[in-house]
Amino acid sequence: MKDSTQIIAKNWAERDTTPATTINPPCYKGSTVLFDCYADMLKSRRNEYAGISYGTDRLPTQRQFEEAMRQLEGGSVTRVFQSGIAAIQTALMAFTASGDHILVVDNAYGPGQRFCRKVLEKKYHVQCTLVPPNIGADIENYLQPNTRLILLESPGSITFELQDIPAITAIARQKGIVTLLDATWATPLYLKPFELGIDATIHSVTKYISGYSDVLAGTVSVGEKYAQRFEEFYKLLEIYTPAEECYLALRGLHSLAVRLRQHEQSALTIAQWLQTVPLVDEVLHPALPCHPEHHIWKRDFIGSSGLFAFTFKKDYSERELAAFIDSLALFRLGYSWGGFQSLLTAAKTARTTPSRYSAKTIIRLNIGLEDCEDLRTDLEKGFAMLT
Ligand SMILES: *Cc1c(COP(=O)(O)O)cnc(C)c1O
Repeated sequence: MKDSTQIIAKNWAERDTTPATTINPPCYKGSTVLFDCYADMLKSRRNEYAGISYGTDRLPTQRQFEEAMRQLEGGSVTRVFQSGIAAIQTALMAFTASGDHILVVDNAYGPGQRFCRKVLEKKYHVQCTLVPPNIGADIENYLQPNTRLILLESPGSITFELQDIPAITAIARQKGIVTLLDATWATPLYLKPFELGIDATIHSVTKYISGYSDVLAGTVSVGEKYAQRFEEFYKLLEIYTPAEECYLALRGLHSLAVRLRQHEQSALTIAQWLQTVPLVDEVLHPALPCHPEHHIWKRDFIGSSGLFAFTFKKDYSERELAAFIDSLALFRLGYSWGGFQSLLTAAKTARTTPSRYSAKTIIRLNIGLEDCEDLRTDLEKGFAMLT
């Protein structure tokens, strides 16, 4: 045999099958998946084949991650995506059609809102209304006869307002409106959306679930009522999420609980300390009793994660802010969050609905896994640049 393809195929077929069980499952890669016989191929064409028929049918690595997420969240079906934003976009498309109206909270992930305005509304005639980020039973005032979906994100990942999820889902259920919740901040461990009546959840796996800032992935999990509808839509799109990303996401899940406990504890310590800093105006952290929706967090959430924000009493110039931010050594500048590295962003929020924080610069902190005392010292050093 001279042909390398034949040599490799033969070696694989006749491989040494001495048992070697690694703790972690293998990472399967592949486009073509071989059928054992023609009868199986025919079955697959008739949708009667129990095996995997192609790479986009999701290989064992994708399926293993999906199943772990499904069980953690308690949904009926979970599907994995190439990113959190891809998960948001696909969920929105799966549950809407031309002529529908949807409601989106004004603190939802920015690129998701942009997709609603520029793609759903402009190209597909799905009308989109932004609603206040701390909405509850008053969502009733925004409903139209053709409202088909409500997109929530609680807390929002810049200003941290919370929605009254059970009040909203009670109304939505009555009217047959799909509720979709981006639960990235809480992870599947600190919020149980299906128990609060949510129909489908979104997670940016990019954040805490993978945990090391080296993965882009997302999931959508759907409860019993809409599971089949979502599954069928997903299949039509022939999505492929790289196996390596699913492998790393699975690995991240093992340490999610311990990492999250540390993020939670350090973030609370820093947040409580910030409340005592004279320059600081408000600390936007749902687990602090001063947070306007703290009672909702206490009622619905199991814990808090490591992302929160604060505002300054004074309206500093960009030059002054730069002096503060650039003096920090441990807090690095960058988007995304949920990893071991502490990060900071600073921006004024652009809101369509009335907001507590319009025109204020929001300093958002991702509290990483560094020593908490070191993080506090770093911020102290930065604040000294402002006085
Ligand atoms: C980052 C983020 C997303 C998008 O996730 P990507 O994987 O970066 O596309 C969605 N929702 C929230 C709340 C996020 O923070």
